[in-house]
Amino acid sequence: MKTLKRCLMLMLVVLMLLSLAAPAFAVEVEPYGVVRRCSKCMTGTVSMYESRSYEGKTRSNCEHGKEGYDVYAIYEVTIRESCDTCDYSSVSKNNERVFQRCEGH
Ligand SMILES: [Zn+2]
Ligand SMILES: [Zn+2]
Repeated sequence: MKTLKRCLMLMLVVLMLLSLAAPAFAVEVEPYGVVRRCSKCMTGTVSMYESRSYEGKTRSNCEHGKEGYDVYAIYEVTIRESCDTCDYSSVSKNNERVFQRCEGH
C-alpha cells in the first residue's frame, strides 16, 4: 500500500511538470514575430516580419451552391527575414485570397 501511494505521488509530479512545460511548446510553434538562431553565422538572431499590400479584387464562381460569383480581395504577402549580426536576409512573396462577399443569388 505504501509503494502505491509513492507511485501516485510520482505520477502527480510528472503531470505537474508536463503542464508547466506545455506553454513553452505553444510559443515555439508561433510562426511570426519569433526570433530564431541564424543558420548562417550561428550567433545572430533572425527576425521575421510580415507585411501585406492590397492588390485588388477578383471574382470566381460561387462556392455556396448559388448562381453567380464570390468576390475575393487579393493581398500580396511579403515575409522578410533578416539576421541582426551577419548579412543574411531573405524575402518571400505569395498571394493570399481573402473572401469578401457572395454575389450569388
Ligand atoms: Zn457565394
Ligand atoms: Zn546571421
